[in-house]
Amino acid sequence: MSNKKVAMVGTPCQILAATKVNRYADFTGGSPIDVKIGLFCMENFSYSYLERFLKENDIELYEVKEFRIEKGYFIAYLIDGNIFKIPIAETEPFTRKNCHVCTDYTSDVSDIAVGSVGTGKNHSTVIVRTEKGKEIIDNCIKNGSIEAKPLDEKGEKLLRNIANKKIKRNTKIINKREAVARPVLSKRAVNEEEFVDECSICQFNNLQDDVISVGSCVLCGACEYVCPIDAIKINHRKPVITKDCEEDCHACYFACPRTFVSEEIYPNDIDEKPLGEYIELLDVKADSIIGQDGGVVSAILINLLENNVVDEVSIVAEDKDAPWRPVSYLTSRVQDVVSAAGTKYSTVPIGFKSLNSKKQ
Ligand code: SF4
Ligand code: SF4
Ligand code: SF4
Repeated sequence: MSNKKVAMVGTPCQILAATKVNRYADFTGGSPIDVKIGLFCMENFSYSYLERFLKENDIELYEVKEFRIEKGYFIAYLIDGNIFKIPIAETEPFTRKNCHVCTDYTSDVSDIAVGSVGTGKNHSTVIVRTEKGKEIIDNCIKNGSIEAKPLDEKGEKLLRNIANKKIKRNTKIINKREAVARPVLSKRAVNEEEFVDECSICQFNNLQDDVISVGSCVLCGACEYVCPIDAIKINHRKPVITKDCEEDCHACYFACPRTFVSEEIYPNDIDEKPLGEYIELLDVKADSIIGQDGGVVSAILINLLENNVVDEVSIVAEDKDAPWRPVSYLTSRVQDVVSAAGTKYSTVPIGFKSLNSKKQ
């Protein structure tokens, strides 16, 4: 691996995968991810199911100018000026089922978490979690690319309520699944020693049984990324194995965010702290607003590149051949960050895909 440093923007599950890959580098080989920017996430959508759902409502994806999640609604703004709007509760047909066993709304193990809940139009809520994150945000404030003030009480209350709602709703589903022997390993309490012991006897077949076949795979691509012999491919929206495993390799099981998670990463009382551990909660405005969360995230990424804090950033852009299908890639160009700003409400294995395309 080169000494390059990368900033990753991702959903909480992808950020957890990055955390595991780096924490257990002795087993996974590590990654160049040095800065983790998490996005608030209630659930995510399957591209194909979303496409089908919209078709049933006489809308083609290419007719959509922008998707937004606002005030409990999923909204598609169409190019012709019309608006398609449904309550979030009605997005079930195209919500990814793995999201039902996830309780992390605000990306608890990121350096910085960003979302739109809690602040007004053209502002973002930013949770600064680590000293590294604080330094980055302080630099952005200092050079004028963002303006920040403490998140007000009303905004914090709303954010806590929504994060709590996700915890409560999905904890019920997790308990039900566990009761019918569909394991949700990531929510079982294990200490560091137990974690290493468990993972050290598991290979891809265990990942298949414990995560993929029980509908818990988040399609982050971490398993594919860490496999030393490139045995894993993500085909038809699930990881498959293409050759025999190396003896004594357990990398994919260590890296996967849906196998066990040690209490050193997620403390046992994590669900009692809906916003996780943090240094500060901010109401932030970027100097140029592009997309729902893109303005602030883009400003942070641009600062990281311009100040040589990282060499490359992972960004998500639209697939040229499929409207709204996200593809991820690494770039060192500020112009690419500006062009890719915006939020894509569907899921592909974007988290590690860009790293995979040029394993560093
Ligand atoms: S599992 Fe789903 S809800 Fe949880 S962070 Fe990932 S995409 Fe979001
Ligand atoms: S060799 Fe097998 S156990 Fe190791 S990472 Fe690849 S698929 Fe997983
Ligand atoms: S099985 Fe692979 S793609 Fe699925 S959640 Fe685990 S690491 Fe991510």
